[in-house]
Amino acid sequence: MASLRVIELYSGIGGMHYALKDSGIPYQVVAAIDINPTANQIYKHNFPDTPLWNKTIEGITLDDFNKLSFDMILMSPPCQPFTRIGLQGDIADPRTKSFLYILDLLPRLCRRPRFILLENVKGFETSSARERLVKTLMDCGYTYQEVMISPTSVGIPNSRLRYYLIAKSSTENFSTDTCSKILEAFPHSADNDCPAFLNPAESNPPEEPTVSSPSDPDTCLTEEEDPQRDQVLYKLETRMDAQRKMNQNKDVSVRQIQDFLEPQIEVNMENYLLPPKTLLRYALLLDIVQPTCRRSVCFTKGYGRYVEGTGSVLKCCMETEMESVFGGLDQYSEEEKLQQLLRLKLRYFTPREVANLMGFPQSFSFPEQISTKQKYRVLGNSLNVVVVARLLQLMVS
Ligand code: SAH
Repeated sequence: MASLRVIELYSGIGGMHYALKDSGIPYQVVAAIDINPTANQIYKHNFPDTPLWNKTIEGITLDDFNKLSFDMILMSPPCQPFTRIGLQGDIADPRTKSFLYILDLLPRLCRRPRFILLENVKGFETSSARERLVKTLMDCGYTYQEVMISPTSVGIPNSRLRYYLIAKSSTENFSTDTCSKILEAFPHSADNDCPAFLNPAESNPPEEPTVSSPSDPDTCLTEEEDPQRDQVLYKLETRMDAQRKMNQNKDVSVRQIQDFLEPQIEVNMENYLLPPKTLLRYALLLDIVQPTCRRSVCFTKGYGRYVEGTGSVLKCCMETEMESVFGGLDQYSEEEKLQQLLRLKLRYFTPREVANLMGFPQSFSFPEQISTKQKYRVLGNSLNVVVVARLLQLMVS
């Protein structure tokens, strides 16, 4: 296959670029575009030869895009308009403007790209932005497939359920068919009889998508009615939570956390231990994992600063059992409580470890001047490289 000319929109720290590299597809990134100075610094550091445009997408003209003459668009538009906490402004949110601009440009390009891959958060699938995207693609004669998937499906012990759309122009030969459902596993995997690409001739107009049978342990909890499922066990965890975590840890198709850790002698523990104040205030809300676990929760951009829901923390002391610490915690004085919690030796994952769990290769690095807080921030905005690499292979095959 001849080298594909690729544009990487909302390029951030280059998660898409790494996925492309990982996929084995011959490519050349002809432009990466982002307005975040920190992300751009990191991108430049890792891809010094890629043309990086520090411009707003909506400020780039049709003419400029035509000159790039590209075969593929990779994009992760800002996700805040579609997240639950982001108030779901959808297409009314100013941050969606640049994405609508791309949809407006697509039909007007002199030469439409052969392939398009989009990544976004869970929530995008029910948005008006998604409806417009699908409509534009069909009007332009693309076939497409939508997938909602987490890195656990490629054996990585990290949850990051995301929406993906892969599309190819219908002039392409494609080896697989498609399915109008949003898939929750890679097409043509053992438990999935859905084909990979949707043919516009056979499809219905865009409508509220149906989600195929749930398989992700993050979205689908046991359906059996458990009368005690909401009962809070130790550590503000319900029986259902505990059961789900236990099941995840037993799933040997997923690797263990320890495969993604830095050599412990290289981690300056003191820098990453949870401070006493955090331990005392948030102990019951932490998602705690240990090296032998096969799960961790999604790392978000607030990791390392806020605790609740921003990512798992690592229990470094294997000898101390969780139950022995959390069992009678509420009976202790503050000082005793702290002593108990300190026994667990809880620390944050380092930025390198978060990058490992997100599938970034060892060759990825940060420039020296980037702070830890900035590193967590840009990683939290990025994507799982291995998942996207698999989707790229599917799209181009
Ligand atoms: N996939 C990227 C992250 C995407 S996050 C990665 O691997 O890191 C969304 C990115 O879009 C952010 O970096 C943000 O700076 C950028 N962005 C948001 N609005 C933009 C606009 N109008 N023009 C260009 N870049 C924009």
